[in-house]
Amino acid sequence: MFHCNLCEKETVYLSKFCDKCRRIKHYLNLYDERVYIILDSVLSRDNQKQDNKIKLEINNEIQNLRNKQIKRGSEVD
Ligand SMILES: [Zn+2]
Repeated sequence: MFHCNLCEKETVYLSKFCDKCRRIKHYLNLYDERVYIILDSVLSRDNQKQDNKIKLEINNEIQNLRNKQIKRGSEVD
C-alpha cells in the first residue's frame, strides 16, 4: 500500500497515481504545455474570477476544436 505519487494523499495499490491524478496525467498527455498555461492563468485568480476564467478557457477550447474540425473538413474537400 502506497500513496499516490502526485497528490500524496490517496492510497494506491498497483499504480503510481490515484484515479483523480491519472486524469491529470491523461490531460498532460493530450494537451502538454496547455495544461500548465491554463492552470497558471486560472488558479492565480480569486474564486469568482476563476469561474469566469474557466468559462472563458472552456469556450476557447471549444472554439479551437471547432476551428480544427472546420480545417479538417476543408482538407478533405
Ligand atoms: Zn493522486
